[in-house]
Amino acid sequence: MKIYLNDKLVERSEAKVSVFDHGLLYGDGIFEGIRLYQGCVFKLEEHLERLEYSAKAIMLDLPWTREELSEAVCQTCRANGLQDGYIRLVVTRGEGSLGLSIKNCTSPQLIIIADTIQLYPEEFYQQGLKIITVPTRRCNPAALPPTVKSLNYLNNILAKIEAQHLGYHEAIMLNDQGYVAECTGDNVFVLQKGVLLTPSASAGALKGITRDTVLQIADEIGVPWREANLTRYDVWVAEELFLTGTAAEIIPIVEVDARTIGTGQPGETTSRFLEAFRRRVVSDGTRLD
Ligand code: PMP
Repeated sequence: MKIYLNDKLVERSEAKVSVFDHGLLYGDGIFEGIRLYQGCVFKLEEHLERLEYSAKAIMLDLPWTREELSEAVCQTCRANGLQDGYIRLVVTRGEGSLGLSIKNCTSPQLIIIADTIQLYPEEFYQQGLKIITVPTRRCNPAALPPTVKSLNYLNNILAKIEAQHLGYHEAIMLNDQGYVAECTGDNVFVLQKGVLLTPSASAGALKGITRDTVLQIADEIGVPWREANLTRYDVWVAEELFLTGTAAEIIPIVEVDARTIGTGQPGETTSRFLEAFRRRVVSDGTRLD
């Protein structure tokens, strides 16, 4: 496997970063998870834009242009002979001294890994997923904005551990006001009386690329939508519920906190979104050739 490291492709065994890298020492860095579908890097421009915003928010100057990053992503996919897969683009603060100060970190490190993707089992999509709300709250945007896709995922990891301990794959995280923020690695959507509702970024949601795509599809297929503060009650009584994310795509949810959602089967509207999404992924992006 070839890994893109800084300005060139290297063998996996050669792809190494310093133990003094602040990405490792402090989770100081940013990343993107991107999908490759049939030779098309889905929404690559949107992912690179979000990366640039994350970089700006943590005051990390990216020494690469959008075009250079885009070419590096495509080059990594081509070098690994991939037509379908998952791309992890990471930028760390780079090597520094043992201290929080970023002053000595002069060289951000760019890592691009392109690999085949471990898809979620098909039964998640056919039968829907059961999830729970966990005690760990999503970071307050005033502490660490969840809109920054940073390397510091401990908040989400704690929530995931809590879910897995109880036998669940995913968990709803509330914000510090008790409203639904998002799941540990996915955005949340509720369908209520024919209207699609989703938490806003200020409620603690990442501005997911899949979330944006779903909102575009909603406009196209005529499903009204708005951002809303959602309580656990809103989730429990939803007609339909689904999660969105780059790896997950669109996953129907059939149970939350032991309450059956809708009929207990993946909802009709959710299925319409999933079909429209899967049609779109091969056209809406950057082609490798
Ligand atoms: N929220 C969190 C915390 C995430 O890590 C992700 C990405 N896995 C998402 C939402 C979904 O974002 P996207 O659709 O851009 O993958």
